[in-house]
Amino acid sequence: MRVECPECLQPAVISKRNKISNHTSDLYCSCKNAECGHNFVSTLSFKHTLSPSRRTTQLLVFEYLKSIPQADLDSLLEKLSKCR
Ligand SMILES: [Zn+2]
Repeated sequence: MRVECPECLQPAVISKRNKISNHTSDLYCSCKNAECGHNFVSTLSFKHTLSPSRRTTQLLVFEYLKSIPQADLDSLLEKLSKCR
């Protein structure tokens, strides 16, 4: 991951990451430009999903299937077996 110094717009290095939550971290950064030397903290955060995790999809399907009455589930499984 590349971080840019907000002062001189040159590359900076991340020296430490402080996890704030599962979706947010503070990144402690140092500018690599010797004439600048800016040390700063940037925030890295999750914004939105482009493609859902397979784990999430499988969990949703599992939870949904658990809620279906057994007779309907049996019927659904029978239909699925004929599709494959
Ligand atoms: Zn800089």
